[in-house]
Amino acid sequence: MEFRDLKAQYKNYQKAIDAAIQNVLENGNFINGKEVKLLEERLAHYVGVKNCISCANGTDAMTLLMMAWGIKKGDAVFVPDFTFFSTGEIVSFNGATPIFVDVDKDTFNIDTEKLDQVIQKTIEENKYTPKVIIPVDLFGLPANHYEIDRIAKKYNLLVLEDAAQGFGGSINGKMACSFGTAATTSFFPAKPLGCYGDGGAIFTNDDQLAKLLNSYKEHGKGEHKYDNARIGVNSRLDTIQAAILNVKLTGFIEHELEDVNKVYEWYTERLNGIVKTPFIPNGYQSSFAQYTIQLHSNEERDLLKTKLKEQGIPTMIYYLKPMHKQEAFKSIDFHDEDFKVTDVLCNTVLSLPIHPYLNKDMVHTICNSIVDVLLR
Ligand SMILES: *Cc1c(COP(=O)(O)O)cnc(C)c1O
Repeated sequence: MEFRDLKAQYKNYQKAIDAAIQNVLENGNFINGKEVKLLEERLAHYVGVKNCISCANGTDAMTLLMMAWGIKKGDAVFVPDFTFFSTGEIVSFNGATPIFVDVDKDTFNIDTEKLDQVIQKTIEENKYTPKVIIPVDLFGLPANHYEIDRIAKKYNLLVLEDAAQGFGGSINGKMACSFGTAATTSFFPAKPLGCYGDGGAIFTNDDQLAKLLNSYKEHGKGEHKYDNARIGVNSRLDTIQAAILNVKLTGFIEHELEDVNKVYEWYTERLNGIVKTPFIPNGYQSSFAQYTIQLHSNEERDLLKTKLKEQGIPTMIYYLKPMHKQEAFKSIDFHDEDFKVTDVLCNTVLSLPIHPYLNKDMVHTICNSIVDVLLR
């Protein structure tokens, strides 16, 4: 059994994907081919924003925003403590300081009450200047973006929606990647919309910002190719990856998002009351980058993981370590008691196999094994 079955997806679209790649090979426009522009237009339309700027990966997408916003040493950027390393890394990479915030015990997303308190405290301490909030749409579920917007306005902060895992999610029909000042996503193969290598994109309604990002991602280009207005980077999405994504985006819209939500329902019907199943607030839709359950204790979680592995069922622990405990951030002063929820989650969560090509029988097999281990 696969944790995320990319081979089943490829089989389903093999003809179209092979043809799309072949077409790029024959045309020879490997950089900035027409497939890239087409993908950007389709993505912008799908999420409902004016501009989509593709780039080399989800980490670069966030880094480019930090560059365009001029985030630097002395600035504070608020990041959830429970996320993939990249969300905090890009802050430090740009010289600023990530201030981690504990998460909500049910949604696993940034706790907005604590966020407000931490911002106030940062202002009072006057060591760093608050600049940006980076809410993460963890495991596919959008963060509480309306509340985050309100807080951002109150303190005059920018918002970067990290939707690397969130593409396809929504709140009352408003799509992930359309929240905040700008949003980013990742096309890493295992993400909800993945390519066959690295890829990423930035979304914004701000035309000026979009222009600046398009410059930064290609060596700070000015009016033409060999005119350089600023110091930038080289971060483009390959034409081949864009061609693959154009096929996959169609499948994602036509059935994959719906199918992965069916898998969520099958799991939850069987596991509800046995383990803590994912909480999806009213009006929210998740794209289920992960289906993450919570066990009663660290021992129970580790036992379940081992027993499932013995039966050929792969599981993952996202995430074993809170951000504030990462060696890379040891120079920043944090207090463990500020991250109680994240600490519990790191010890008790387990992510089960989920993808649009998982059928009901397989879900039942997995659930039966879980029930066997836990209720024996
Ligand atoms: C995957 C991921 C990223 C980084 O994306 P890459 O394309 O791998 O650079 C950033 N944030 C979160 C929450 C992610 O899951």
